[in-house]
Amino acid sequence: MKNSPTAAYIHIPFCRRRCYYCDFAISVVGDKPLEDDSVMVSDYVSYLCQEIESVPRHTDNPLKTIFFGGGTPSLMPQKYLTKILKVLETNLQIAPDAEISIEIDPGTFDLTSLKGYLDLGINRFSLGVQSFESELLEICGRTHNLDDIYLSLDLIRQAQIKNFSLDLITGLPHQTLEQCQKSLLQAIEINPPHLSCYDLVLEPTTAFGKQYEPGTSPLPEDETTAQMYRSTQNLLSSAGYEHYEISNYAQKGYQCQHNRVYWQNQSYYGFGMSAASYFQQKRFNRPRTRKTYYEWVKRGALIDSEEISHNDYLLETLMLGLRLSEGILLTDLSQKFGEQITSKIVSSLDVFIRQKLVEVDYEPEADSTILPQKMARLKITDPEGFLLSNTILANLFDTFS
Ligand code: SF4
Repeated sequence: MKNSPTAAYIHIPFCRRRCYYCDFAISVVGDKPLEDDSVMVSDYVSYLCQEIESVPRHTDNPLKTIFFGGGTPSLMPQKYLTKILKVLETNLQIAPDAEISIEIDPGTFDLTSLKGYLDLGINRFSLGVQSFESELLEICGRTHNLDDIYLSLDLIRQAQIKNFSLDLITGLPHQTLEQCQKSLLQAIEINPPHLSCYDLVLEPTTAFGKQYEPGTSPLPEDETTAQMYRSTQNLLSSAGYEHYEISNYAQKGYQCQHNRVYWQNQSYYGFGMSAASYFQQKRFNRPRTRKTYYEWVKRGALIDSEEISHNDYLLETLMLGLRLSEGILLTDLSQKFGEQITSKIVSSLDVFIRQKLVEVDYEPEADSTILPQKMARLKITDPEGFLLSNTILANLFDTFS
């Protein structure tokens, strides 16, 4: 299929318990390991594969990135990952140098599983650490402790995995600025090539959402979370990490290619319950529970598509692209939305440009035939602009809604 997506997200919903901040579509399976013959897993994977097979088979545009997320994909017996990858290869093909990522949680894998993942061609690992403070892990309802984290890191080292990322959360209940900085220093000592540092978002349906008010004790005050953000930026940049996206840091050559597809508002497949696909300016959402997802696959996996209006396409391109520290090329905006709209975007941001929260950066280009203003990039500044990105984006929404 010409112009078909070359990125695929695969949702693996199984988790031991639900962490107190999480509102993802998951199935809680308890602390016992999932067996090879688990009916729940085998059913889910069989519907998932059926769904992948329902996409018109094509071989001309192989997948360049695959992301097994969830959920906790590392809870699932390996033979199911083998099966899913085989179906992806047969139906959509996988490029030989594809980035294939998997989310793994401390305490849910061993050396044999890591080696097995590598044998399957999985080449990027995202470890859900969240914090290096035992009591904070407990407060979040995580199933692992500090020992599990260090054991996992040891296994990653033994398996000689180079491309791995640590996930951390800041702004947790009872978390102090010092604890946040200490966690970061511990992360830096491990020297992972990639780090994701997300600020806690209070989702109303979660245990945290029901229990806490943003900015109110025991959650850190807004000024403290802002300091945590600045500290993160400062410590990681000093340690040689590029702050390439609002919440993501990478050493050279280790940015997450799959997530860049989202931020650049390019098309992607999503498979499994709650996943969304996006292509041809349409979004395709799937049901959020196993039961409704199975029913939907049985009915032929026919997706109600949500047409994205040209205006929403513009807003999403801005909202996602401005998350990247490289920003958005103005020539790209002009090509997609016209010169007039591009000028209107820049002038509506004038107040933020004057406050140095947004900048139009004229990068020198090797090709001297290109006029300098053609290579201009619209960017949010780091860290002060990023800290106010919601206000900046709300202003764009007001202008273009
Ligand atoms: S392990 Fe991840 S997906 Fe599962 S409940 Fe916790 S945060 Fe959510």
